[in-house]
Amino acid sequence: MSEPTSGGSLADRVSKPNTMNAQAESFQPKSGTSWADEVSSPATEEPPSASNLTATPAEDASAPVAQVDGATEPFGGSQLQEPEYDVNVKLADMQADPNNPLFSATSFEQLGLEDNILKGVMSMNFRKPSKVQEKTLPLLLMNPPQNLIGQSQSGTGKTAAFVLNILHRIDLSTEQLQKTPQALVLAPSRELARQIVGVVKVMGSFVPGLVVEAAVPQDAAARNRKIEASVVVGTPGTVMDMVRRRSMDIKGLKILVLDEADNMLDQQGLGDQCVRVKGMLPKNIQIVLFSATFPDNVVKYANNFAPNANQMTLQHQDLTVEGIKQIYLDCDSDQAKYDILVRLYGLLTIGSSIIFVKTRETALAIEQRMTAEGHKVVSLTGGYEGSQRDVIIDSFRMGHAKVLITTNVLARGIDVQSVSMVVNYDVPDKFVGGGKFVADPQTYLHRIGRTGRFGRVGVAVTFISNQGDWLKLMEIQKYFNTQMTKVATDDWDELEEQVTKIIKSSRAGSNMKDGANMGMQM
Ligand code: ADP
Ligand code: MG
Repeated sequence: MSEPTSGGSLADRVSKPNTMNAQAESFQPKSGTSWADEVSSPATEEPPSASNLTATPAEDASAPVAQVDGATEPFGGSQLQEPEYDVNVKLADMQADPNNPLFSATSFEQLGLEDNILKGVMSMNFRKPSKVQEKTLPLLLMNPPQNLIGQSQSGTGKTAAFVLNILHRIDLSTEQLQKTPQALVLAPSRELARQIVGVVKVMGSFVPGLVVEAAVPQDAAARNRKIEASVVVGTPGTVMDMVRRRSMDIKGLKILVLDEADNMLDQQGLGDQCVRVKGMLPKNIQIVLFSATFPDNVVKYANNFAPNANQMTLQHQDLTVEGIKQIYLDCDSDQAKYDILVRLYGLLTIGSSIIFVKTRETALAIEQRMTAEGHKVVSLTGGYEGSQRDVIIDSFRMGHAKVLITTNVLARGIDVQSVSMVVNYDVPDKFVGGGKFVADPQTYLHRIGRTGRFGRVGVAVTFISNQGDWLKLMEIQKYFNTQMTKVATDDWDELEEQVTKIIKSSRAGSNMKDGANMGMQM
């Protein structure tokens, strides 16, 4: 275990400089991780440009039938396969339960947002805010603007919290302002950046003059174009390059958001880049950090990055989502893992599913083997070109590809509501030097959080094939104080029955854990 399992909430630990936990480790970039391998670093990124994604005119924004997920048009957001009536009744129950992270006592109308923003929210079929939205929005919208560090479980609507603050704060009153970057969102992967662009577009589809651009590595033809948008969402390396080349004007920036903030600050490379980007921006901008996880080693660093921030925090024992059923399978060998994955194929395709492996090579090898055996699967890793990655993720979002094999590059933030199963083909671990790997609870949580979005149910299956795997998984279980069920691989019927039952009941019960507490610091 790389970090103590004791320790209070983030707020307890660091919310006030004078109460800062002396034991909190100072920020140390990791000495090497598979993350860094997967996310474009400045050295490997294509010289940047931006895809111009003009907001849909208000007239075009037709209300979707059910809630939309993180990738609506033009990214082909998945349509829910659930009967809408059923979904809404169960969601309403969950949102009425004070112990549920989806609970709120207020309505979006009470949060002080303009009508044209509320229209966007309603067009997404959001009926009530979730807890993280209800708690953080009033803090985010306060004047003068204050920094915020926000934590809530996976799939509870953190994106809307920071996007609504952005839409509220940007000034689009002149044509010049509409072309001037006012809000910058940084995310760890190109897929997540593009997804957030999609959310801003849909949520802001009734906001006149809104233009949002993605700042992710582009092909040569798109280079050197100046950003002409009020909201920019990108990966740190590309944004840093753009600012240096003066293809992004930063003088008008008012808000900086780091989504997946702990990852953005912890990871070698990304952390440096985020600090450098921040250093180039105007000094008094509002800094907003969101994540489901803030491990001890980044807490102090996050607090330095967003000084005097208001905080909404959770204990790590409260982070798992009840709707995600966690099981593990004891496999004898690597070959056995592969055989079991192939046998699982029927279950993987009931909805959509994501298989997480440790390396690009494993992803490719499994894709090739399964394809040769007649199964329809795709893979996406940092080894692919940006444009290829876009095609693959978009086809997964649209449900054309239902089984996606990937690395940690997609472990965070990706929101595809139809994902009903996640497979940890390899137990998530991290390199700690000296040839040693230890359990990586944060990555586990983010990976399994690709299913069970906003109260939906899902199954997370982890494969273990040796004692080391088992020990790591047990550490993860202990860290989150959660329950994982062992299913015997020879009891195929039981596995099939369990998984099918879970996947076919679209919503979880209303007993999700919640331990949110607010720490205010003025
Ligand atoms: P997080 O970042 O907390 O993991 P997201 O912001 O990606 O979660 O939201 C998860 C899903 O929940 C998305 O599909 C989003 O559209 C949906 N969602 C967010 N807020 C609401 C709400 N208030 N009501 C209904 N659905 C919501
Ligand atoms: Mg998110």
